[in-house]
Formats: sequence, C-alpha cells, structure tokens
Amino acid sequence: MLALSEAPAVGSETSTPWTNAQATPLVEIRSVSKQYGDFTAIGDLSLKIYPGEFFALLGPSGCGKSTLLRMLAGFETPTAGEILLNGEDMVPMPPEKRPVNMMFQSYALFPHLTLEQNIAFGLKRMKLPKGEIDSRVEEMLQLVQMTTQAKRKPHQISGGQRQRIALARSLARRPKMLLLDEPMGALDKKLRRETQLELMDIQHRLGTTFVIVTHDQEEAMTVASRIAIMDHGKLMQVAPPIDTYETPASRYVAEFVGDTNIFTGSVTAAGSSALDFTLEVSGQSLNALPQPGIAAPDARYLNVRPEKMAVSKDRVDDGSNYLRGRIDEVAYLGNLSTYYVDVGLDQRVLVQMTNSQRFGSERFAEDDNVWVSWYPQDGQLLDR
Ligand code: ATP
Repeated sequence: MLALSEAPAVGSETSTPWTNAQATPLVEIRSVSKQYGDFTAIGDLSLKIYPGEFFALLGPSGCGKSTLLRMLAGFETPTAGEILLNGEDMVPMPPEKRPVNMMFQSYALFPHLTLEQNIAFGLKRMKLPKGEIDSRVEEMLQLVQMTTQAKRKPHQISGGQRQRIALARSLARRPKMLLLDEPMGALDKKLRRETQLELMDIQHRLGTTFVIVTHDQEEAMTVASRIAIMDHGKLMQVAPPIDTYETPASRYVAEFVGDTNIFTGSVTAAGSSALDFTLEVSGQSLNALPQPGIAAPDARYLNVRPEKMAVSKDRVDDGSNYLRGRIDEVAYLGNLSTYYVDVGLDQRVLVQMTNSQRFGSERFAEDDNVWVSWYPQDGQLLDR
C-alpha cells in the first residue's frame, strides 16, 4: 500500500489553489534575498507553493534557481527574509530537521550497498524499527518498479534505473516536500521523456509537493503545475505552463518560453474591441486586440507565436494581418516545416506549419514570394 499524503494531488478539483486567496500554502517565501558579498543572487523574492504542487523553477544559467532550492533545503541561509513551511520559520532549522529532502543530479548512491540497502540507509539513521524500514523499502521499490532488482548494486543497473532508486531513497523518509535539482540532467533525451512521465505519475500518486530546478523549458512545461521563470535572482512570471506560453507577462518570458516573433511599435488608434498597432520600422499598421491589464498607450510590442502564423502564395481577405515577404530559409522537421521569412523589417519572421498530410500539405521553397498572415486574436500586446 502506498502511503498517500493528505495533500490533494494536482489534477483534482483543488488543483489550482493559487487562484484561491484563502488557500493555505505549504511553503511561503517572504521577501528573501541572498547576497554573496556585493553580488545579489536572489533579490527580495516572495513566492507561495501549495501542497501537492509540482512546481518548476526555470531560467537561464546563473539566474538563482539552485540558490533558491538550496535555501529551501537549508544548505544556504537567506541574507534577509523568511521561509515558512506550514507557517513555521524554517530558516533556523538545520537541513536534517526539515521535513524536506533533496535529490541531486549526481544521484550519489553508495556503490558497495545493494539497492534496497541504499533506500534503507536514511531510514536506519532515523532509527526507525526494522519492520517499518522493511515495509517502507518494499513500498518504495514497488513505487519505482524495481522490486525484482532489489539485491543488485548500483553498477548493475542502468542510468535511468539509478535515477529511480535515488528517487525512492529521497521519498522513503516521506518528506512533505521533495526538491529536485536537474534530476534528469544525466539522462539522454528519450530516457528523459520517459522519466518525466514516471516522475509525474509518482508525484500524482503520492501527492507529495515536488519542486524541480531545470533549465529545460520543455521539461518544465511537461511536468509542472506551475512554473516560476527567473532572471537575475527575480521572478519574471509564476503561472501554469499554458499561461507562460499563451499569455507571457513580458517580452523576456515570451522569448524564453518557446520561439516567438516580437514586433516593436505603438498603438495609433484604439477602439474598445480593436486596435491599430503601427510597426516602428515600416510604419505598416496591423490589427490587434486590447490586452487586459495593458493600457493602449503603454503597448510596445506585439508577440505572435510561429505556429499561429501561416505562409501562403495568395492573400485572402479574411480579416488576417498580412506581411509581404520572401522565404529566406526552410527547415523541414518531418512533422513541421519552419519558414524564416524576410518581410523587410529588421528581423526575420519565423513561421511554423504542420505537415498534416503526407503529400498534400502546401510547401514552400527558398526565395518564394509569400504572404505571412495571422489572425488579430492570435497576437498579444506587451508593455515590457
Ligand atoms: P545553473 O543553471 O547554471 O545551475 P542557477 O540558476 O542554478 O544556474 P545559481 O547556482 O543559483 O544559478 O547561482 C546564482 C548566481 O549566484 C550565479 O551568478 C552564481 O555564480 C552565484 N553564486 C552561487 N553560489 C555562490 C557562492 N557560493 N559564492 C558566490 N557566488 C555564488
């Protein structure tokens, strides 16, 4: 039997606690800063993480992801601020006293111990009774589907299996929160995909709160209930994956999460349901929709994702925005074709089209004169 925590698993009715002002967070980070000498690794950061979340910290190298995770684990002390777990300040608490466990990228399994002894190691240090240790080890081996290999040593299993044993060992102590620092960094791409799905399944079954650090945006999108996108020790946006992609808060987030086209310009005419956005470089006017939370005069960019655009030989009067261009480069990716189109601005436009038919899909070649189009509702105005 799995030891299910009381935490609601993400996917249930209570799966969006961040939208409920009354919901009680598991972790509350309050105005936390971390200085190394003059250097600010984390600057005045506040964040709530809820029970049962699979929370991802995403950002470029050096943005402070690991520093934040290490402060949650207790390996680093904040220079200022508080970190509460179930309302209790964790900052004065040493790592081993926190109901938190950390799984590192280098799994650091003991080579001379069997897999079951590796899982039992931390439980013995907790001085649990032998019967309790045995049943937890068995439960964890079942959880990661490694029961039949229990007597092997780490060098007798694959990299993916070692990762699963490391996970089992981290979860055996039944932490309230598991911290994972690039846990799939050592796995190849295919195994990484499989492991992501396994990790989601295990997290869902246990209901334990997971916080993962990754610089792989696809990985964060796959596993996470919410993603915190960081830059220079600050949070740029904290939102479910779909929101970071479809309604990024800024140009930085739009460009960090997936590919995109950002046009610079300003709103030159504004009605209640439609706007004219005039491109700075060419003076061409495009149709856009008002963006909630952004006053028309503040809009500086129009963000359009490549798959929301189409390339065509002819222009049809269907209310789309059209830019005249010439195909500069084509990348055929099998399922998709990516077109880099010179539209006479100071940037190439990236368009992605699905090859939904084996031979029927219309394809284009370098130097073809084309129209690039998108519907006004598929563009998003940004003010920063
Ligand atoms: P990566 O993806 O490369 O691991 P990260 O986002 O996890 O990066 P951190 O390891 O948190 O980044 O580091 C944040 C910043 O703090 C970096 O600029 C790093 O050089 C700096 N830093 C981290 N630890 C120390 C330290 N002990 N002393 C001084 N500077 C440090």
